[in-house]
Amino acid sequence: MDFVIRNAELLQLGRREWQAADVVVSRGQINRILPASSKLSFTGRKTNSKLDMAHSELNIADEIEAAGCALLMGLHDHHIHLLSLAESLRSLKVGPPEVATREEFYQAFLSAKAGLASGKDWIRAVGYHESVAGELDQEALDAIASNHPIRVQHSSGAMWMFNSLAMELLGLTQDTSGAEVGADGKPTGRFFGSDEFLRLDALERTGAANRIGQVGALLAGFGVTGITDATPEYGAEEVAFFSQAVSGGELPQRLTLMVPEGSEHVNPGPYKIILSDHSLPSFDHLAEKISSAHGSGRSAAVHSVTRASLALLVAVLDEVGSVAGDRVEHASVVPPELMEGLLRHNVRVVTQPNFVAERGDRYLAEVESDDIDWLYRCRGLQEAGLRVAGSTDAPFGSPNPWQAIWAAVTRRTQFGGVVLGAAERVKSEQALALFLSHLDDPGGVPRQVKLGEPADLCLLEAPWREVAAAMPENPVRATWVGGERVV
Ligand SMILES: [Zn+2]
Repeated sequence: MDFVIRNAELLQLGRREWQAADVVVSRGQINRILPASSKLSFTGRKTNSKLDMAHSELNIADEIEAAGCALLMGLHDHHIHLLSLAESLRSLKVGPPEVATREEFYQAFLSAKAGLASGKDWIRAVGYHESVAGELDQEALDAIASNHPIRVQHSSGAMWMFNSLAMELLGLTQDTSGAEVGADGKPTGRFFGSDEFLRLDALERTGAANRIGQVGALLAGFGVTGITDATPEYGAEEVAFFSQAVSGGELPQRLTLMVPEGSEHVNPGPYKIILSDHSLPSFDHLAEKISSAHGSGRSAAVHSVTRASLALLVAVLDEVGSVAGDRVEHASVVPPELMEGLLRHNVRVVTQPNFVAERGDRYLAEVESDDIDWLYRCRGLQEAGLRVAGSTDAPFGSPNPWQAIWAAVTRRTQFGGVVLGAAERVKSEQALALFLSHLDDPGGVPRQVKLGEPADLCLLEAPWREVAAAMPENPVRATWVGGERVV
């Protein structure tokens, strides 16, 4: 359906200027951009020759009055985990900010138990951190409930904790990959690994599948029209699942998965390599993985959250070389000497500014002082010439990209209100631009509302200056993907 958005404020990112315009969308594309005219009419009574022409040729069926509000290209979240996010929507939150104390932790489980129908119903909890109630193991979770299977995911996403019944139902033993084994030779109930345990439980699939529409709608509500899912373990089954979710419209966003082969509706992205915080791979092992990704015509997306892992990555790239599109996920700690290394290889950085707000208070307490200034950097990297893209890492961060955009501007921690790395703050337009690059060009030139672009659009509830000054939780009024209104 053809339509026009009248009196929209368009951002000229390069010039940092805004212009008022009428944007005509036809066949899913931005077909015309005309000077805004509050007098324009599609009934033909008042005349505006250009628009009458647009009207007669295009069969415009609808008009939206933007009244001077900002119209942007839809946001792209360059690193997110869709199935985990779907899963988190039906999970109990047992970590900060929702749950911060031991008392709140046990209370959360008590309420969850009270709401369960039968003994075999699962309690799935997410977002746990030791600051809440110390280290959790099988025994501690059995004490909470032994007649319900319990699964708790750590806030890092990389550790899972189960009670005895859950382990029995899932067949988890000391021989399961990632199992932590106690001094007595028995599993402790703690398992290291990323999303593997999401795949072990067939029931999860149904649960996540039922909620993928909810995820699509949630993200569309934030103006997100494109996503890169950075989960490394997806196989053919997940590709088929997502392909169907996209073609069926449950997931209205454009989607890139970090899988070897895509499908009609899903683009294959770079090859994901996790550098675990617990045990780094050997130099040779990483070199081989990156080389083989490059050898098969793919770029590498390497997860790095520590100085040591980034140093290893840079050393390996010095040996095996880099290709266009190589990226580092998180790049949580980038000291100057390693920034030089990333520049040498033109590696893109896919960062999560929201972690500065959401986890900043914890970082201030726990991170070594040498690393504090180099946490989740933005401006320093951009000024040096690195391409930096924004993402939320949801569900490990809030899925709301606006929280990340405002955090990139203020770098203020959520509880303490401390500014973390003041030199890394960016202006609001630059923060926005982190989420505007193409999915296959993270950190590249920000997409702009212009002729011929797909009508992946997001209309805000106010002009940009007002939005940027107020930093509302979510300023999005309407979202379109390929000209289809999704919110
Ligand atoms: Zn992630």
